[in-house]
Amino acid sequence: MLAIVGAMWQTGKTGRDGGDRPITRGPAPRAARDGYTPFVAQHGFAAAYEAGLARGLGDRLGQTLVVTQPEAWAIVEPRFGRAPTALVFARALDQETLDALAHAAPDGVTVVGIGGGTAMDVAKWISWRRKLPLVQLPTLASVDACFTRMSALRDGERVRYDGDAVPDEVLIDYEILGAAPLALLSAGIGDVLSCLTALADWKLAVAKGIDPAWNQEGADASVRYIDALEAAAPEIAARSEAGIRALMELHREIGWRCHDLGHARFEEGSEHFFAYCFEAVTGRTIMHGELVVMGVLAMTALTEIDHDRARRIVTAAGTRWRLNDLGVTWSEVEATLRALPEFARAGGYWYSHAHERGIGEAELATVRRALGA
Ligand SMILES: [Zn+2]
Repeated sequence: MLAIVGAMWQTGKTGRDGGDRPITRGPAPRAARDGYTPFVAQHGFAAAYEAGLARGLGDRLGQTLVVTQPEAWAIVEPRFGRAPTALVFARALDQETLDALAHAAPDGVTVVGIGGGTAMDVAKWISWRRKLPLVQLPTLASVDACFTRMSALRDGERVRYDGDAVPDEVLIDYEILGAAPLALLSAGIGDVLSCLTALADWKLAVAKGIDPAWNQEGADASVRYIDALEAAAPEIAARSEAGIRALMELHREIGWRCHDLGHARFEEGSEHFFAYCFEAVTGRTIMHGELVVMGVLAMTALTEIDHDRARRIVTAAGTRWRLNDLGVTWSEVEATLRALPEFARAGGYWYSHAHERGIGEAELATVRRALGA
């Protein structure tokens, strides 16, 4: 059983089923700064925050199907307890492979996703296809996949979202997330920082009458998430419990809001289109959160909207952003920017600054400076 000790943190109602389950539990997190209060989500999947949650998890859950990745399992296996009934290493994300895995899953097990986005997505798919209970134990804060219902399937070159899995619980083990290198933890700010550019894009589209789906509450929330991220940034850099909790709570509420609104307009815009374009142009990728941060810095530099603020948050959180540190060459970014307007239009992405921003020599020089290249 989980020991729950110390001052309890805030609890609330779940957004997904209108039920009265506490949405978060665990002792109040330790903060590096006195008086700092981490963001606490008002909605989202049930989540637990505590050091040592992975210890004895196999004993607690009984029969399990663990979906993981080799590096993550190497960390969790020694503390897991009772060995899994079945173990799957998640690699490919095409539907055929995932359906075969779901088909082969034993009856009567709890599916446990352990690792990064790929493990979470495969675990969700098996759980959904087979109606098996799901527990997610992320070992990286750099992805929000543990707080979303759909899996990101690869369909040739494109990504397609499908499925509908709700975990019984998402376990945030400070012992594991806090031990990850800072780069892996702080890359997690990407999918929150993206609210800055996404909101500017959403406003642009509405002003042009292209996107009627304006939602004031969603837009206000987007601003709140950026404020909370900025406040948490030094805690994230310190890898404190409060920083990890604030970051994961932001992912938790953003995941719920995407589902509630039926779209991710408040969180996904030109910075993600930049990221998808980078992947299409270069035929490779880097850590998603860092790629999105690169997109935010590039797009805010081009639009001159909130660029200084984006830079302040990235610096305070200790996130890598210089192209050299990311292992990205300027020529890759240049090719991405030149292709971006046509890529965004042809891909049918939501209308954004990426669609209409002409890219000439002056724009390239601006982004080059912004990315320290
Ligand atoms: Zn993203």
